[in-house]
Amino acid sequence: MRRLYINDEWIEPESGQINPTSPVDGSALETVAAGTPAHVDDAVEATVDASDTLREMNVHRRAEAINAAMDAIENRTDEIVSTMTVEVGKTTSEAREEVESAIRSGREYAADAVRLCGEVTRSQYDDRHNFTRREPYGPTGVITPWNYPFEIPTDHLSAALVTGNPVTWNPASAAALTATHIAGAFAETSLPDGAFNFIPGSGGTVGAALSGHPAVRLLAFTGSTEVGQRIAATAAERSAECLLELGGKDPVLVLDDADVSRAADAIVLGSNYNCGQSCSGTERVIATESIYDELVAAVTARTEELTVGDPRDAETDVGPPINDDIRETTERQITAAVEAGARVTTGGSIGDRYIEPTVLADVAPEMQAATEETFGPLTPLISVADREEAVAVANDTRYGLQAAVFTESLQDAHRVIDGLQSGGVVVNGTNNFWEHQLPFGGFKQSGSGGEYKGRWHLESMTQVKAVAIDYGD
Ligand code: NAD
Repeated sequence: MRRLYINDEWIEPESGQINPTSPVDGSALETVAAGTPAHVDDAVEATVDASDTLREMNVHRRAEAINAAMDAIENRTDEIVSTMTVEVGKTTSEAREEVESAIRSGREYAADAVRLCGEVTRSQYDDRHNFTRREPYGPTGVITPWNYPFEIPTDHLSAALVTGNPVTWNPASAAALTATHIAGAFAETSLPDGAFNFIPGSGGTVGAALSGHPAVRLLAFTGSTEVGQRIAATAAERSAECLLELGGKDPVLVLDDADVSRAADAIVLGSNYNCGQSCSGTERVIATESIYDELVAAVTARTEELTVGDPRDAETDVGPPINDDIRETTERQITAAVEAGARVTTGGSIGDRYIEPTVLADVAPEMQAATEETFGPLTPLISVADREEAVAVANDTRYGLQAAVFTESLQDAHRVIDGLQSGGVVVNGTNNFWEHQLPFGGFKQSGSGGEYKGRWHLESMTQVKAVAIDYGD
């Protein structure tokens, strides 16, 4: 059984375990110990004790520790990729891409942290030197989802630790085995005892105890809007800081003059990558009527080329969804849309394990398929009159994470960028996109409290201390 890690010790509790099964074939995987609220108390206490030591540790030494964790991960990449493939159903290439991206980002956080500086400001008073410093918050809780079970936790952990925040991490139970590889890498580093703690276990128990703990000053949460809002409400009672990266219903706008073939390729990738289980996946396509039929035909044809099946097979493009909820949501949305007049142009069949990638045409903006996060391999296409209506439909949602627009017109691209209520906008590329060199975060109910990735992530993990030195007589 894989164990908890608290205050520099691997712990096997007397009871409580997670018994993961593979979404690929239902087989039982290695068990992982599950913690309790008492373990959370121990871990948070360890982070309280480690706070001063970690804050005072030279940032260059903290950066070396993060790089050492990345080295350990790099050495085990093949093993991690095969764990992820059977545990969460990612294809081998998707899993490898994720691990490699996490390693790259970890090293970038280490490099950026040593350059994270405050600023000197010009005082209105004579003989006064003003400057700011960026300081860690202290005891931190990290709570992460199963859909990018490697990159998201590794990023939050690297960003928190390299900026001097000691961490207690509760991973999603559906990806607990994958999480143990990350925990192993961070546990091996030269960070002080108690700086890194790992407690798998249900979100409702361990996650809730962690987010409600009075000593936790910063919560980095990636997951659904519903859970994120609950965590933020609890944290608000003690004014703890929350970095929330939440759900989306991300639109791709295709305008009259778009390169339809290019748009179709990007849409099919965005809807079906990771079996549609991406916060920035293509959840809605909004196309102007003059190119609508051509786009539906192109998206349908490309979707039919996808190979669905065992994610370990090199030819597989789309593996199984993680659980029954996603099969049920996708099926319910397709059925309701068809009853209300939408057309399935390809796919539509949902088996015991796999979902056939499905294209839904003639979708109306108020259908569930166009309003609720699907998180499955479904592409709903909505027809609109023009650019203005496309932007209005795209904005008619509580979410605002990552959008894309396809157009050959520089003017139209800028007008759409201006009009979209979205944390990110991609022009002429898939909206399922992130890289370390751009902040990633949501507008509206897709996120708050800062940004993920790059130096923006490091800034979100630190608070500003203002210093004024009076050197007058
Ligand atoms: P989820 O909200 O169900 O779970 C996320 C984490 O919260 C898990 O670790 C879970 O155990 C924990 N949790 C559950 N209940 C809790 C509680 N009461 N208190 C504390 N923690 C609790 O989300 P999920 O199903 O794992 O992930 C899918 C969701 O995450 C989607 O909505 C997706 O859009 C979103 N997501 C967002 C981003 C982003 O960067 N914006 C990235 C990935 C996923």
